[in-house]
Amino acid sequence: MILENYSLKQCNTFGMDVNAKHFAVFKSKRELGDLIRVAKDSHWEILILGGGSNVLFTQDFNGIVLQNKLQGIEVVKKENEWVWVKAAAGENWHQFVLYSIENNFAGIENLSLIPGCVGASPMQNIGAYGVEVKDVFEELEAIEIATGETKIFKGSDCNFGYRESVFKQELKNKFVITSVTLKLKNLNVTEHYHFKTTYGDIQTQLAEQQANELSLRAVSNAVIAIRQSKLPDPKDLGNAGSFFKNPVIEQVLFDKIKEQFPLIPSYPATENFVKVPAGWLIEQCGWKGKRVGNTGSHARQALVLVNYGNAKGSEVWQCAKDIQQSVLEKFGISISPEVNVY
Ligand SMILES: Cc1cc2nc3c(=O)[nH]c(=O)nc-3n(C[C@H](O)[C@H](O)[C@H](O)COP(=O)(O)OP(=O)(O)OC[C@H]3O[C@@H](n4cnc5c(N)ncnc54)[C@H](O)[C@@H]3O)c2cc1C
Repeated sequence: MILENYSLKQCNTFGMDVNAKHFAVFKSKRELGDLIRVAKDSHWEILILGGGSNVLFTQDFNGIVLQNKLQGIEVVKKENEWVWVKAAAGENWHQFVLYSIENNFAGIENLSLIPGCVGASPMQNIGAYGVEVKDVFEELEAIEIATGETKIFKGSDCNFGYRESVFKQELKNKFVITSVTLKLKNLNVTEHYHFKTTYGDIQTQLAEQQANELSLRAVSNAVIAIRQSKLPDPKDLGNAGSFFKNPVIEQVLFDKIKEQFPLIPSYPATENFVKVPAGWLIEQCGWKGKRVGNTGSHARQALVLVNYGNAKGSEVWQCAKDIQQSVLEKFGISISPEVNVY
């Protein structure tokens, strides 16, 4: 069923009250195919939405928003100590993580509590606490909007990078991802698994939990506790997580900036490049906890922009641009949004 002038307020974690000219939910690939055909015949622009946790709507959407509700998780292959699990794109990401933990499949426990759907996970190669989805990615299935054809993308086709993939660049809005298959370690048949606990406060949190033995559940619980203490819950305060990506800059430029700002933190990136925490840059510009009208940077996480109530997307976007300008003026570093702005 296609709805007209549908409010997207409940469909995005920023809580932006914009309307989609047309809106429909799809629960099967057949329904998706039919909706794509109608949209094409009517010359409507298509926007695919999962959990709406990585979008900022700055205006009404004039085309059709298709909300992905494809469901189903299945083990498609087991071999030696590996298991291949295929999840439909509309599955909730965190529920998928919990499924893997319950079944003793390792690899995505550090990605616990990331909001949104499985289908969007390769889109920006979601990552947290030292793990990215590309680390366990096997393949995905997607339908090309122009032709209606199904295509399989292997990892090498996806051009994964830090919060990037081909789907956020040249193939943006051209394919609908319908399922994702991950290759996980099957801890039912092997004990050899390297838990990643050195990132962030995981070890401190594990000690606090008095987790005597490392387990998928213990690591997941530690990550959940840290995230809950650091990030505002969109149910209480509209947001889309980190608004900006951490900039990756040339070592030479970094060394020059460091002369003036000796405390500037950095992490190694690729050869001759370093990654600088955008949150630190934003904080140094005086934005942390600063409120501008109905929006601003969060008091605990400078990188997270929030909606204090009735903020308009354009207001949040203007604030984001002002932050970008401040960082550029002070450090000569250009920071770019991680969030998809419409
Ligand atoms: C509190 C909070 C914390 C967060 N923490 C993290 C974090 O730690 N790490 C991280 O990487 N991200 C994080 N995010 C961002 C977000 O959760 C992820 O990017 C997530 O994968 C978005 O999923 P979604 O289903 O909500 O995508 P949506 O917001 O619905 O869509 C995002 C983009 O992907 C496109 N898209 C969605 N589904 C499909 C599909 N099936 N096929 C093709 N295109 C599609 C949309 O058109 C849109 O451009 C956080 C967000 C919040 C609110």
